[in-house]
Amino acid sequence: MTKHDIIILGGGAAGFFAAINAAEMEPEAKILILERGKEVLTKVRISGGGRCNVTHAEFIPDELTKNYPRGEKELRGPFHTFMTGDTISWFEQRGIKLKIEDDGRMFPVSDSSETIIDCFLKETQRLGIEILKNHSVQNIEKLTDFWNISTNHGDFPAKKILVATGSNPKIWNLMKKLGHSIEPAVPSLFTFNIKDDRIKELPGLATNAVVKVTLRNSGDLISEGPLLITHWGLSGPAILKLSAWGARHLHDVHYKFQIQVNWVPGFTSEEILEKLTKLKFEHAKQQTSKYAQFELPKRLWQSLVTASGIEEPAIWADLNKNQLLDLKEQLINSTFSVDGKSTFKEEFVTAGGVNLKEVNFKTFESKIAENLFFAGEVLNIDAITGGFNFQNAWTGGYISAKAMTSK
Ligand SMILES: Cc1cc2nc3c(=O)[nH]c(=O)nc-3n(C[C@H](O)[C@H](O)[C@H](O)COP(=O)(O)OP(=O)(O)OC[C@H]3O[C@@H](n4cnc5c(N)ncnc54)[C@H](O)[C@@H]3O)c2cc1C
Repeated sequence: MTKHDIIILGGGAAGFFAAINAAEMEPEAKILILERGKEVLTKVRISGGGRCNVTHAEFIPDELTKNYPRGEKELRGPFHTFMTGDTISWFEQRGIKLKIEDDGRMFPVSDSSETIIDCFLKETQRLGIEILKNHSVQNIEKLTDFWNISTNHGDFPAKKILVATGSNPKIWNLMKKLGHSIEPAVPSLFTFNIKDDRIKELPGLATNAVVKVTLRNSGDLISEGPLLITHWGLSGPAILKLSAWGARHLHDVHYKFQIQVNWVPGFTSEEILEKLTKLKFEHAKQQTSKYAQFELPKRLWQSLVTASGIEEPAIWADLNKNQLLDLKEQLINSTFSVDGKSTFKEEFVTAGGVNLKEVNFKTFESKIAENLFFAGEVLNIDAITGGFNFQNAWTGGYISAKAMTSK
């Protein structure tokens, strides 16, 4: 049986990126991608709501790493070798222009993930990379000077292997057999389920807020950004960030916890009370709920006024000190009980995977077994939403390709 120079396990984002770069760096190398599914690149296809959020317009390596709850320290070095600017020019050299949206996310100008898939498939064809679909890797064995990969369709020997199988527990078990330790998998990037009268009538409403979850024994999780009220509870970037940074803790408390929302992040507690007191005297005859204050959306203001025990049609002059204090609390410190989570359909990832201490991040090679490389979500690396998860796949794919072809 032919021995391949490089076998890539998994035909996803990281696997394809590594295969193409390796073939360009060493054109004579025999490279094979083994994919268990009947299609390759399935996650790329559905990514970013079908538009594929390829990367994020952040060009300073240390700033970019701050978006990775797991992997922040380890990616610092790799991002100095291959990051956003390199991704943009890599695709540009292949005729694909990326555009930046207001929030920094980058998409192909076609707004279609098919553009990325077509590019990868054309490149693998041009470079003579072999792809075997419906080939599920079932065992990985190190023989004297090569690897033997067993699949449902027979064995494939290779000098070097790249494991790019994403979050597949079966492969993680095989890695354990090779001596690696695996951080247990838990979901990341999800939204919070909340049933509460204050937000029941407000689905679709979005505003900027600071959200905070206090964790037992490990301090506070805090994030600021757009907060979206949905039929199920709270979502939006502020919540997704919390879900990523708190992935493990929130799993441990079975997704039952309290969240505090500050709807008026630009103001201190004193400033709010001062403004409310001023309104009481300067707009004494005006109905409290009628005009939204602090630039809040009107329906949210009304809901918070009601939640403070202020009954319609109260006017500012009617409010006593306690009601003003309650309103201030609702504005700056609304507490909600979260009970469960929902999947964020645009993008979700798994936290967990191969222990990062066991990988050399100059090459993405295992420190435990020679000629065994990793890239993408198989590692215990994941990011908040915004194109960062693919950037991890591209960076790991590129650097492992370079290392595999220069050994
Ligand atoms: C709905 C959704 C939308 C997303 N949108 C975005 C986005 O817009 N931007 C972003 O940055 N990230 C996004 N992500 C996250 C991103 O898709 C992943 O981080 C990324 O795909 C990881 O790449 P990977 O190559 O490591 O793994 P994958 O893309 O999961 O690829 C792994 C491949 O290995 C194959 N495989 C697994 N086990 C075996 C086996 N035993 N034998 C052979 N093959 C095997 C799998 O079938 C798969 O094809 C999204 C995720 C989801 C679920």
